[in-house]
Amino acid sequence: MIDFQAIRESIDLTEIAGRYTTLNRYLQGPCPLCGGRDRFYIHNGGQRWGCRRCNEKGGDVIDLVALCHKMSKGEAARWLTGDQHVTTPVPARTAAPKGPPRSALDQDVAAKVIQRGIELLPSSPGLTYAVSRGLSSETLDRYHIGFDPRRFDPRAKVRRPALVIPWLNTDGTISGVKFRFTDASGDLRYTALKGSSSILFGANVLPPDPRVCVVVEGELNALSVAEAFGRDSAILSIGPKGNLAGIAAASDLIRGRYAGVPVVLWLDEEEDARRARRTFGGTTVALKSPRGLDANAILVAYGGAGLRELVMPSEHDPVLTEIAALRELADRVRSKADYLSFSSRLESLYDQVTDEKRRAILRRLQAEAEKLLVSIKR
Ligand SMILES: [Zn+2]
Repeated sequence: MIDFQAIRESIDLTEIAGRYTTLNRYLQGPCPLCGGRDRFYIHNGGQRWGCRRCNEKGGDVIDLVALCHKMSKGEAARWLTGDQHVTTPVPARTAAPKGPPRSALDQDVAAKVIQRGIELLPSSPGLTYAVSRGLSSETLDRYHIGFDPRRFDPRAKVRRPALVIPWLNTDGTISGVKFRFTDASGDLRYTALKGSSSILFGANVLPPDPRVCVVVEGELNALSVAEAFGRDSAILSIGPKGNLAGIAAASDLIRGRYAGVPVVLWLDEEEDARRARRTFGGTTVALKSPRGLDANAILVAYGGAGLRELVMPSEHDPVLTEIAALRELADRVRSKADYLSFSSRLESLYDQVTDEKRRAILRRLQAEAEKLLVSIKR
C-alpha cells in the first residue's frame, strides 16, 4: 500500500519542482506544464503548487509529478519513492519514464544467499576486510553479514569477492540483499539481488530502549556506529544518498517507537540533513562529518570512543540545537512578521550565550535574515 501522506510529508515539493522549472526566491517560475515566466508558484509553506494559467487549484508533490509525466497518482508516488529514480532528474515533456515494473525479491533465494554468506564469512577475505574497517565479529553477526567469494559485477562483467549485506524488515522478512565488493578489480562498489528494495537497513535489530537513535547513509556507516555503541543505540541506514523514502520510513519507525529519545541525523549533504530534520522534528540533531570523514573513517581513525564522542558530545547541547533551528528560520524569512519572530527568538538566545564564537554565529544569522527582509521589501 502506498502511504501518500508520508510521501507528501517527506518529499520536498520545492526540490522536485526545481527539476522541472527554475524558481526564483519567491518560489515562482515558468510553469512546467504551460510555460510563461512566473505563473507557476509554490505556496502553503512549500506544501502546494498552483499555476495562474493552467491550474489554479494546483496540487501537492504527487500531483505535480503525475501531471508532468502523465502518470497516475499511484505511479507518481512510486516514482517518487523508487530510489534509483528519485536521484535521477527526468525532464518533463519527454517520454514518461515509467521503467520496467519492479520484480519482487524471491525470499527463498535471498534466504539461501544470506545463509551461505554467513557460513563463508569466518576466515574469509571478507572478514579480513571488515576487521580492517574496524568491525568486530560480534557486530557482523548481529547484522547477519556474510561473504560471497564470486559475486557477479555487472559493470566489469567479472566475479568478485563481496560482503553480503542483508536488509531485513522489522518482522524478519527480507527486503533486499546487497553486496559490497571488497577488492579493487572494478570501480563498482555495490550490487544487489534482483528485486531488492533499499528502504531501511538495521530495522530488524532495533533495541527496546536506546540512548540515542542514529540515522546514516550507507550500510558500512550503520555498522560502524553499531560497533561504537553496541546494543545501546537504534541505528538505521537509509541506504543511498538522498533516499527520501528511506528518510520517511526511518522517521515513522523512530517516532512510532522511541518518543523522546534523541535522534542524530548524519547525512552526507547538509541540505539533505536539514530537510530530513523537518521530517523528524522534535529533538533531532543534524550531525556534520568533521573534515568530510564518514562514520567508518572515524571509527578506523579514532576508534569507537571517538565515534561515540562525536555522535553524542556529552549528550546534546540545547544551545547548539537552538542555533540550528534559528539557522533554518533565518533562511525562511519571507515577511516582516517572520523576521520579527526570528529576531526575538534570536535575541533571547543571545542573552544566554557567553561564548564569543557562538555570539558571532548569531550576529551573522541576524545579518542574513535582515538582508533577506530588505530584498523582499524591494
Ligand atoms: Zn501552467
